[in-house]
Amino acid sequence: MKQFGWYIAGIIVLGMVILGMFVGDVKKAKTPLPVSTLTNTAKTTDKTQANPLSEKFDQTMIEFTSKRPEQQWLFSGSQMEATDLAKFTSVSKSTIQKAENSFKTYSNIPEVKQFADKYSGKLYVSLFSSATNAPMMMGRTGDAFKGHNDPSYLEICLFDSKARQNPRNQLTLLSFNPRFNSIMLASIDFKEPWFSAFFLHEMYHVKKFREGAQSSKNNQYGTDLWISEEVESHELETKVLDSATKGKFLAAVNAIVEKRKDQTDVNLIPSSLTLEELNSLDGLFPPCSKDEVPFRLSQYIFTTGFSWLEKRFSGAELQKKKIDYYRFITSQFG
Ligand SMILES: [Zn+2]
Repeated sequence: MKQFGWYIAGIIVLGMVILGMFVGDVKKAKTPLPVSTLTNTAKTTDKTQANPLSEKFDQTMIEFTSKRPEQQWLFSGSQMEATDLAKFTSVSKSTIQKAENSFKTYSNIPEVKQFADKYSGKLYVSLFSSATNAPMMMGRTGDAFKGHNDPSYLEICLFDSKARQNPRNQLTLLSFNPRFNSIMLASIDFKEPWFSAFFLHEMYHVKKFREGAQSSKNNQYGTDLWISEEVESHELETKVLDSATKGKFLAAVNAIVEKRKDQTDVNLIPSSLTLEELNSLDGLFPPCSKDEVPFRLSQYIFTTGFSWLEKRFSGAELQKKKIDYYRFITSQFG
């Protein structure tokens, strides 16, 4: 393995720029859908009407997501930590290593091979600390500043727990921000293979955005085209998870789908999932924390729905059905 000379490239105080950074296009940031706040579900669901996501499923979700350990943030945003450059260097370095490992481990997947060819060695990390309200640019010698000005590089901006808690920032745990052309990533110790699945999902958005794909344009937000890119990035996540488990993930999904072969409406799939079935999927992976579980849950819901549809439809009709399913799920979970 190559040894890089790591150093603090500098502390760049961008003040107002950073302030603007987090109040911008949050709605349009590309992110895996977190089936996050169960309270949101309650708010957006009209209980007086037929509700495909039943109260029984609300209960299943609560049981599935409860009793998870609290999240462990790699840095919390305290003033003390803001000056702890050794710690930030280490977090920054390990993030690059994890990202590079994702490229390497899953380069059997063609899309990932493309990412690796283009971005391996060209990632750099910035750290946004709420304690200083400024990012610290860090990276391999010269690359942080070079990357800042070179469009062939890719910035991963890590943020701390306080920055996320600030409602002004409206940060999800992970997203691609097209306005800043950067991946925004919570400084959480995500467990593999989920770090790879999440990171590579965002890489798919990076690729689309940088190719100038129509699906990545903000004026397409919510359209079939925009959603098709989300469908494809969630499918890439599935490929990563299936590769990581040597086929066990899709085998478990197919066992769930097989039991619903007589069902007629894909939108009824989520509410029919039992706690045991969700655990049959989640048991394939290391246990995760409260913050990570909604992202996993959304992936389970998408994958089971998509797989169910694949048994019945093909071609353009299948893609349209997947888009409609994605739209239905997002409308239910807000
Ligand atoms: Zn996405």
